[in-house]
Amino acid sequence: MSLNIETKCLHLDFDSNSKAGGTSVPSPCNHYGSVSFPIYQTATYAHPGVGQSTGFDYSRLQNPTREQLEKVVAQLEGGIDAFALSSGMAAISLLMKLFKPGDHLIVDSDLYGGSIRLFDHVTGKNGINFTRANCSQDALEPLITAQTRAIYIETPTNPMMNVTDIAATAEIARKHGLLLIVDNTFMSPYFQNPLELGADVVIHSGTKYLAGHNDTLAGFIITKREDIQEKLRFLIKTTGAGLAPFDCWLTLRGIKTLAVRMEKAQKNAKKIVEWLKNQKVVTRVIYPGLPEHPGYKIQQKQARGFGAMVTFNVTSEEKAKSILNRVKLIQFAESLGGTETLITYPVTQTHADVPEELRLKNGITNQTLRLSVGIENEQDLIADLAQALK
Ligand SMILES: *Cc1c(COP(=O)(O)O)cnc(C)c1O
Repeated sequence: MSLNIETKCLHLDFDSNSKAGGTSVPSPCNHYGSVSFPIYQTATYAHPGVGQSTGFDYSRLQNPTREQLEKVVAQLEGGIDAFALSSGMAAISLLMKLFKPGDHLIVDSDLYGGSIRLFDHVTGKNGINFTRANCSQDALEPLITAQTRAIYIETPTNPMMNVTDIAATAEIARKHGLLLIVDNTFMSPYFQNPLELGADVVIHSGTKYLAGHNDTLAGFIITKREDIQEKLRFLIKTTGAGLAPFDCWLTLRGIKTLAVRMEKAQKNAKKIVEWLKNQKVVTRVIYPGLPEHPGYKIQQKQARGFGAMVTFNVTSEEKAKSILNRVKLIQFAESLGGTETLITYPVTQTHADVPEELRLKNGITNQTLRLSVGIENEQDLIADLAQALK
């Protein structure tokens, strides 16, 4: 029996051949029949005898709650394995340890601000070179050199919602022996599965849709390649940023409702997008579900939805700031993907550390606002926006 995605948010598919699901057969006696997977709040594990192990030795290496979460996430993304890290940035940092000085990466120019900061100020300093490209429209092949090892993209990008054709990019990567890494945070595995489209590695800020309740940080790396799996197991054990048991449990609990949350948030987002388009102070609405969005067709082809992230421009900087000051129900806060609707000002928040020149090139101005639409009642959200936009 192959399970559908809503069910996979709640149950492991023990019949599947994937390592993610098939490693241990569930029994009513496992964990005393506990329906909610227990939190194994332990640092270490006693050995039955010399040379023997329960399979768990020390929680930096393995923890049952983390293992359960990793299986669930691997299953949702169609990977052979997943790695649960203490944040999205911890996941991306660990992934960067796969590369060595002299290696070259092609990275999307519009990315989460923290990823740009990491590449510019940490990974770059360690001798790894980057070329930025607008991966949704630039020709990538001319940028590939003998040192190029990977292409790193987000689709849709944060915050400008550029949509890149994952299958076409995977084809280029395959032809040149490069890894294709996709940060799939904005879509979540509910709407998009890059590994199935040819990507080698998927990244998530689990803080966002996966955990989904604005109450914990988490990050994931998922892969379908055994060579990468092996390197990452070694790296997570050696560097130690694995997600703590309680945060694993919160994320497991959050994932249980991923399907219903994504559907409701997307429904709200579509209503808000239609409403925003008719407001005089709104000069541009960027949402991949709009037929006029340049990535609309590709998004339809490669994803099962358009998500609940909406970027829009207003008439002036003053207007943008007044909206941020006036929202009541909607909260002015960084982050996204949670049950509560949040509004962000990328210029001073998520993308404050992105050099101004690059920010403007990407189209992020002081008139740009980003909404992460939550699961409240849509009329309540629109009423709040209406009074804030006045
Ligand atoms: C938030 C975010 C990250 C970073 O994740 P943290 O959990 O905040 O460390 C990475 N990529 C994208 C697209 C994000 O939105």
